[in-house]
Amino acid sequence: MFNLKDKVAVVTGGNGGIGLGMGLGLARAGAHVVIAARNAEKSAAAVREVERAGGQASAVNVDVADEASVKRLMASVKSRHGRLDVLINNAGMNIRKPLDELSLAEWRQVIDTNLTSAFLCCHAAYPLFKATGAGKVINIGSMMSIFGASFAPAYAASKGGIVQLTKATAVAWAKDNIQVNAVLPGWIDTELTQNARKQVSGLHDSVLRRTPAGRWGTGEDMAGVAVFLASAASDFVTGTAIPVDGGYAIQG
Ligand code: NDP
Repeated sequence: MFNLKDKVAVVTGGNGGIGLGMGLGLARAGAHVVIAARNAEKSAAAVREVERAGGQASAVNVDVADEASVKRLMASVKSRHGRLDVLINNAGMNIRKPLDELSLAEWRQVIDTNLTSAFLCCHAAYPLFKATGAGKVINIGSMMSIFGASFAPAYAASKGGIVQLTKATAVAWAKDNIQVNAVLPGWIDTELTQNARKQVSGLHDSVLRRTPAGRWGTGEDMAGVAVFLASAASDFVTGTAIPVDGGYAIQG
């Protein structure tokens, strides 16, 4: 039920953090993982890490905010593998400023990287899914798909948008046997949140206090949900947003 042998999975932002944690999970379940990000050196290191874990991976350079670049990514998946089974829209970034200090260019950069990217990747992946007769899309939201934060207006808007994009796409593509779901990670220890801890004072301890599991998450914590949502185990699950957060979202 969880076997991903012969499946091909694209993970945007798969060269570190949550994307690599998910990619390692998919590779261990048998999938070939295409790591799609900008930093070629980091992507090559991630490919080696997947291979050391006994999996198969390759890297493609892509800027997910750029339509032509995303089209090239999917064309290379088609020519190299002839199929696509799983798309994880994970690439993301944040610019931490209150709304009155955020410029329009910064707003656009966050929305383009976190939200428009998922639209572009879904758009370019759809013909490949249609050709296979099935597909799995996993969009990465955030606790800020649910909550607000004074320092993240564009990020919260992008992650709220991810949940609604997930629902709309899930409804539209159910007829094509494509399941579309979102994952809402809690606070996970990655480069992104290492920067956040430098910029937002008290963040490290407030996350520990609020998370019932009593710790920050790791990339590895994200592997199981990725395998579930990428595999036949979730064939009747679509349009949901699953928190993977050590209980952060249910703490009163
Ligand atoms: P990282 O900073 O470790 O990873 C971000 C990834 O996105 C990198 O692999 C980066 O690769 C890639 N990326 C960024 N911009 C682009 C772009 N324009 N084109 C292609 N790839 C890009 O952060 P996380 O692992 O923490 O974040 C992954 C996702 O999880 C993000 O969507 C984030 O919002 C979300 N998330 C993270 C949480 C956390 O606590 N860490 C909590 C909730 C959600 P490169 O620079 O090589 O392009």
